[in-house]
Amino acid sequence: MFKYLRSLPNSLGRINTPLHDLFKLLPKFLALMLLLLTNIAYAATQVPLGEKEGRDIKTKELDSIVQNISATAPPKVSGEKNDSATPVAPSVDLKEIAPAPVPTPELMPPSPPQSEQPGSTTSTKDEPAIPKTKAVAQAPFVFLGSIVPPATATRLAWSPKVTIAGLTTPTPVLVINGKNPGDTLCMTAAIHGDELNGVEIIRRVMYDIDPKKLTGKIIGVPIVNIKGFQRGSRYLSDRRDLNRNFPGDAKGSLAARIAHSLFNEVIAHCDALIDLHTGSLRRTNLLQVRADMSNPDVMKFTEGFDETVVVHSPGEPGMLRQAAVDAGIVAITLEAGESLRLQEKQVKLAVKSINSLLQRENMYSRMFSWGTPEPTYYRSQWIRANKGGILFSHIGLGDFIKKGGALGTVTDPITNESSEITSPIAGRVIGMAVNQVVMPGFAAYHLGIETPENCLATTDDNESTVPESESVKLQTIPTGECARK
Ligand SMILES: [Zn+2]
Repeated sequence: MFKYLRSLPNSLGRINTPLHDLFKLLPKFLALMLLLLTNIAYAATQVPLGEKEGRDIKTKELDSIVQNISATAPPKVSGEKNDSATPVAPSVDLKEIAPAPVPTPELMPPSPPQSEQPGSTTSTKDEPAIPKTKAVAQAPFVFLGSIVPPATATRLAWSPKVTIAGLTTPTPVLVINGKNPGDTLCMTAAIHGDELNGVEIIRRVMYDIDPKKLTGKIIGVPIVNIKGFQRGSRYLSDRRDLNRNFPGDAKGSLAARIAHSLFNEVIAHCDALIDLHTGSLRRTNLLQVRADMSNPDVMKFTEGFDETVVVHSPGEPGMLRQAAVDAGIVAITLEAGESLRLQEKQVKLAVKSINSLLQRENMYSRMFSWGTPEPTYYRSQWIRANKGGILFSHIGLGDFIKKGGALGTVTDPITNESSEITSPIAGRVIGMAVNQVVMPGFAAYHLGIETPENCLATTDDNESTVPESESVKLQTIPTGECARK
């Protein structure tokens, strides 16, 4: 197009010729103008196809992306603590309504490089290598590629980078870096994607904290299994249980890779961890801390949860809680209610329980009145239905049951035969099935058994009551004397 514009001055240069010459030239001039206008109109309607035009468009797109990043990314810190490559996370008031975090994995700061192992066909350059940070809160907190200054809260994003790159959904991570130095408390929820109460519990706890009054740091991952959450499913998209794959494996299954990423990028920063769960498979749980009471640090930690039953549970391999404890992090599970439901009562109790912990750990003070302490159950036992049919319970969560007490009735809908489920032991209902159709052998009631502290027993519990492998996991604990001493 530009060559036509350059030819125009040559034509206009003939304007000093005599008048008749001008008239002779007039058709040429008009033809030239027509050609010029045609070219301008043509150029205006065409998509550039040439290499140069293509580069111009790409450059514009990149400029646009960079402008977007600049608009959303935090400003560079000018202080001496910041290296020039790490952005400062924007300080936000978590109570304020905010747009969803938008950074895509491609735009997030790269993880430190990691050498590839021989024989590997998969790049490891995205695998995290962030060491455990024990920095005091008065210092800026370097986390997930950003700097969180003291006395601020922000929203960051963790991405396990295990899906199709262009379809990756970053998982929101809430961070509060307190004004005063102290340890880091982490909370995770919806590792099982259908367990909703914990999502709301984290929101209520974290959005009610003023960073200027906080000692230490709080990290919250409200929805760990975001794909399962979107599908209303307990499991990952490969049907694996994420909470059986910690601390994970960068070369392992999808679940192991996600677990590895979460563990190294987030959990490794924690000094203490509360992993929030609910009952699974249509069972509901009394608010309870599950903890390995044989670990002194964990045992001490459980004392901070006000009005919350504690159930001794050593956990099993692959659980986040156990992997965290193995890594030196004080970790417990907080169970509240049932899956696929949001239960106001359970949420309120759990929030109060966590707030009491923050008070006990001298992280955050409120005008807090302590309630009546709940017992620790060092043993627990599941009671099963022996016949199949429709289960209706006669008791509720938290009820105390005598030996031989009636728990529920199972009725065969075809034969009309009914049978009672009675308790072979005295105990307290800490978990139970909701009314439903059950098959023979179904674990219907979870009873906590009060025993002396030295009666630490391996319970038949696992993290979310009883999963598919229940027949293998369940053990019969002798009643009466301690099962193990
Ligand atoms: Zn769970």
